[in-house]
Amino acid sequence: MGKLIIFSAPSGAGKSTIVGALLKRFPNLEFSISATSRAPRGSEQHGREYYFLTTEEFRAAIAEDKFVEWEEVYGGSFYGTLRSEMERIWSKGNVIAFDVDVMGGIRLKEIFGEQACSVFVMPPSVEELERRLVGRATDTAEVIAKRVAKAASEIEKAPNFDHIVINDNLDEAIEQATKILEEFIQA
Ligand code: ADP
Ligand code: 5GP
Repeated sequence: MGKLIIFSAPSGAGKSTIVGALLKRFPNLEFSISATSRAPRGSEQHGREYYFLTTEEFRAAIAEDKFVEWEEVYGGSFYGTLRSEMERIWSKGNVIAFDVDVMGGIRLKEIFGEQACSVFVMPPSVEELERRLVGRATDTAEVIAKRVAKAASEIEKAPNFDHIVINDNLDEAIEQATKILEEFIQA
């Protein structure tokens, strides 16, 4: 088994942006493609951003114990990490980068202990989080409201993570995340 770095945050805090920057900087870092039952958004492709499954396929995979962890993140949408995905990345000797919800991040850290480094991406405020979700323009007002409503309870869980990166200035947040990853890879 190899190493994994986990990024969790309320939706809209900027974790995908930060993970994307790290993937460009670290050739041995590889993104864990989760499975989800939600529909593809915008230009998302099966096998690139997610493995898109039907709810029936997702439930069958749960029953067959194919997931390391899974969550019903926003009422009705399932997300999970396939065991086969982690094996695929480790078999190449790469470090796995996770972009998962807060409960998923806590669970992965519990499962993998010292092999895992967990990072909470903190938005400057819930108001700014909402502005970013509206600005991203990928979700309906109803979906945004659900995500914002969940944010306060997710922020309370930040102390469960190894590191907290405040994503106010994006460049500074990427620098902090880079240092955390460098130290973790060298340890
Ligand atoms: P998450 O993956 O946590 O849901 P994203 O990475 O998709 O969040 O970021 C949400 C939106 O906020 C995107 O439109 C992104 O470009 C923008 N964003 C990310 N970081 C910052 C920042 N530091 N300042 C302003 N906007 C940001
Ligand atoms: P989105 O629909 O915006 O792509 O993702 C919604 C939420 O699901 C985000 O917080 C994202 O990090 C989380 N997520 C994505 N993949 C997984 C996964 O495999 N497990 C868990 N627990 N959450 C995930």
